[in-house]
Amino acid sequence: MQVEMQRHRAEQYGRLAAVLEKDHEVPGAAAIFDQALSCGLAAIVAHEWPGEELKKNADVKSARFLLDVVKTKAEECPDRAGVRILRGSDGSLDVRIECKTLVEAIDHTAAIRHARGVGELKRPHVDALLELDAHDALLQVLDEQRESDWVKEEIRQRHDRMRASDYLELIGEEEAERRAKAAEDFVVISPGDVDDGAALDTCPVCGWEALAVSGIDPFGAGVGSGACFVCSYVRSVVEAEDLARGAMMARHMDG
Ligand SMILES: [Zn+2]
Repeated sequence: MQVEMQRHRAEQYGRLAAVLEKDHEVPGAAAIFDQALSCGLAAIVAHEWPGEELKKNADVKSARFLLDVVKTKAEECPDRAGVRILRGSDGSLDVRIECKTLVEAIDHTAAIRHARGVGELKRPHVDALLELDAHDALLQVLDEQRESDWVKEEIRQRHDRMRASDYLELIGEEEAERRAKAAEDFVVISPGDVDDGAALDTCPVCGWEALAVSGIDPFGAGVGSGACFVCSYVRSVVEAEDLARGAMMARHMDG
């Protein structure tokens, strides 16, 4: 169980950190950063000081509190303030944890996420996050993810959602409604395009039932790729498959 949990944390860290490494200004970067940091630190703390990653109620501590654990327990870096170091069993330098920079990053992402004041995720924050990958508990998970389709798709999807949502704002509510009505007509006049009638799906960006499904997922979960008549959002084949896999697994667990 613990091994599985550690593997899961490491994988999450690797995927999310790889997204930010490629594009630290991706829409939703602040939330991605917080999640990546929490997973990475939880894996490191659980590895170094088992049990210290948990709160009294057995929930995992937040990144800020995990950094407190590191600050209390790890050796101070002799030549750089605000940095802690962890050594491997042979005494060699294992990983440098930039506590000061990471706390600053958490302050910035909190400001962004709660829209209080000005916060900005900067490259040095992401670099400090990427440095954690040198630790034994993570080691190379980031490397594995760098060229993965998941990372590329995640970045593409986030930009496309942002683009579609800007577009939606531009056309306004009235036009969106007119388009949603037109989408219904489109389905009526062209039956047979899709096998089982689920030709329009709810769009994740605008919320209208206007996403014209043009392909069917391999699991038959009814989540196909397509484009939205209202906001122009495009659901790619990769995303559709991802959603379908999730829906299939949820059904599996219910049954
Ligand atoms: Zn839409």
